Amino acid sequence: MARIQLLPDILISQIAAGEVVERPASALKELLENALDANAQAIEVDLAQGGIKRISVSDDGAGIERDELALALASHATSKISSLNDLERVASLGFRGEALASMASIAKVTLTSRAHAAAHAWQIDGDSSATPAARGQGTTVSVEDLYYNTPARRKFLKTELTEFGHCEEVFRRLALSRPAVGFSLSHNGRQIHHLPSAANDPDVRIRAILGKEFYAQSVALRAESGDIALTGLAALPTFNRSGRDGQYLFVNGRFVRDKLLSHAVRQAYHDVLHHDRHPAYVLFLSLDPALVDVNVHPAKTEVRFRDGQAIHRFVFHALERALAQPRANGPEPMSANYAPSFTSNPTNYNPFRSQGELQVAQPTAFYETLFAGIRETSVAPSQPSSESAVTPELGFALAQLSGIYILAQNAKGLIVVDMHAAHERVMYERLKAAANRAELASQPLLIPVTFSADTLDVATASEEGERLQEFGLDVGVLSPTALAVRSVPVLLKDADAAELTKSVLAELREFGASRALTERRNELLSTMACHGAVRANRILTVPEMNALLREMERIDRSDQCNHGRPTWFQITIDELDRMFMRGR
Ligand code: ADP
Ligand code: MG
Repeated sequence: MARIQLLPDILISQIAAGEVVERPASALKELLENALDANAQAIEVDLAQGGIKRISVSDDGAGIERDELALALASHATSKISSLNDLERVASLGFRGEALASMASIAKVTLTSRAHAAAHAWQIDGDSSATPAARGQGTTVSVEDLYYNTPARRKFLKTELTEFGHCEEVFRRLALSRPAVGFSLSHNGRQIHHLPSAANDPDVRIRAILGKEFYAQSVALRAESGDIALTGLAALPTFNRSGRDGQYLFVNGRFVRDKLLSHAVRQAYHDVLHHDRHPAYVLFLSLDPALVDVNVHPAKTEVRFRDGQAIHRFVFHALERALAQPRANGPEPMSANYAPSFTSNPTNYNPFRSQGELQVAQPTAFYETLFAGIRETSVAPSQPSSESAVTPELGFALAQLSGIYILAQNAKGLIVVDMHAAHERVMYERLKAAANRAELASQPLLIPVTFSADTLDVATASEEGERLQEFGLDVGVLSPTALAVRSVPVLLKDADAAELTKSVLAELREFGASRALTERRNELLSTMACHGAVRANRILTVPEMNALLREMERIDRSDQCNHGRPTWFQITIDELDRMFMRGR
């Protein structure tokens, strides 16, 4: 074994860089946070080639004194905390003192800064000493050729467009977090965003970033309980998405991805949003910094609350209440929109509309003849072959209830099936079986379905084209903001092709590397299955319902839908007798 020895500083920084500056976007995040920590009022970002070539951030903040310039680039050097006590109440975005050092270890970093009282600016790059430079008060940090000296990591970077997409997302988060600060972003010499300070009306910033449509269809939140407050805008259920983009949660001004918080939000939307749709929101939670630990992860996007339960309850109730109330001064009255997105027309919907001739109490014999009828169409091979055959496990369909449930009768009594959940499970098993045989056949669409998409989706579609084909999807890039679906899996030919594709792209984006995709194939298939499954309020004919019951009997695990919910229940005659106090 080699001797134990201390790692040289540069190597420590390079290792840290793997975590702190995983890709250009993470470097950008650190630079923007530094500018905000220096109380900048205006920040300009200039990127070249997705940030791989250059990331430059200029601010008008406090600046760095000449004699501290070199220190700023040293590892574990920070002006933000000096004791454990400070760490417990940290209010700045940075505090670990490793971001600039990490970047300097893997890229060419130039620091130009003019402190408040300085006569002019000073500049340093690498190890050289400071030279005079010209600029107003503030700091410019320029990071060039990220990972130039670690080609292995460079290989992991995706195309320029993808890296730019990630940078843009980081920019959006930081810009949302400080509406009073002006932000601008240019890429390859072209200005992409110009966001003037919105100090007087923070909503202006939200509207600029999330769009008018979001703004028009959202409710304002303002809830307080003791030291905790939740403010922001939450979209009404009608404005929902197939992916998790459009979800912004900030804790004390810091963007976070927190399971506890997103769960609370999800719960609040639970009754009003179909489970495969995602809400959009910009929410700011503020609380005593001592009640939340931000030093859980190097990138600090995860947090830990002292009393998670209380925070969960607070966020859930605040949001649930807001979603249930009409928007006070918003442009859209809430009542008109406040309906689950999957209910197309709740007012004149009649679940029994197309089956008038079928009463719930019709004799089983009728269904047996019907069943004999559909046997000829060979719905399932496991059907009984004679009139005297036993009733199948899940029985024969009697009726559809409320557009959601199938009622069926079997030997023991009543079967209640959640038709969407059951169909989803059936679709999932079929997709899985087809994928296992590498036979996820795809079917060209007569007319390609086009839809508008953001930079990252377009990049994902073009980079993961082969992957998408493996899943039966053929997606073409029409323009930097539009995609076209040309083929879908045969099994999902009735699904909404655009929504299906958006969901798959959203998931691919989240998985990141293609490697992970193989491991998470089933998750993706389950998402796809959901799109193929019948929606609530689709009227099913009795043969269709019976066909579904037979399919359920054939496949494994049909009593659990992909989301872990049960797909059917049995209510026995005995139980019914007891309910009606009918002694037998
Ligand atoms: P941290 O932000 O965790 O302190 P960094 O490595 O990001 O560590 O930065 C090191 C130090 O450099 C900061 O503590 C701060 O004093 C100084 N610094 C970095 N960027 C700026 C900036 N834009 N304006 C003023 N000071 C800065
Ligand atoms: Mg920092």
